[in-house]
Amino acid sequence: MAGVSPFVLERCVMHRHEKGTNVYRDDTCAVCGESLPPDHFYCREHGASVDDRLHEIGNLVPRVTTELSRLAMLLDQVAGETWDYLAEQQSDDPEWPPASAVALRADADDIEVDVDSEPGFVTVRVALPLSDLLAEVARDLQRPEWQKVGQATAAVHGANATH
Ligand SMILES: [Zn+2]
Repeated sequence: MAGVSPFVLERCVMHRHEKGTNVYRDDTCAVCGESLPPDHFYCREHGASVDDRLHEIGNLVPRVTTELSRLAMLLDQVAGETWDYLAEQQSDDPEWPPASAVALRADADDIEVDVDSEPGFVTVRVALPLSDLLAEVARDLQRPEWQKVGQATAAVHGANATH
């Protein structure tokens, strides 16, 4: 997965503010959606834990960055023949690695599609909140197909026999 540059995110946030379509209406709690008086952003309960949530973001950003980069690199280093070897050991002989299908909702102005240098391919650039992007990647990884890949790769022995 390509990284989303801070520039793109910044532009996205500004864009949302310009259009007045911030995802949080200012009369509901940003966490639970409870209705609030004007100029309140969190309910009483969630207002008391804003720092905790921010600290957790601060801890997760470097961890997720490291782990997602590592996972992306390792997945890229598996030969097609090794995927076939793993898949053949499954009762339903699946097509591995599973293709990921992500659906991203964005303002049409925030999507660019260009013809790629490789014939038959296009490059798509989408500016959107990182929370939406991460939630979609997480949803994809939570599919049973990827869970099965996780179990099979964790338990495999002798996969180097395919070299
Ligand atoms: Zn709340």
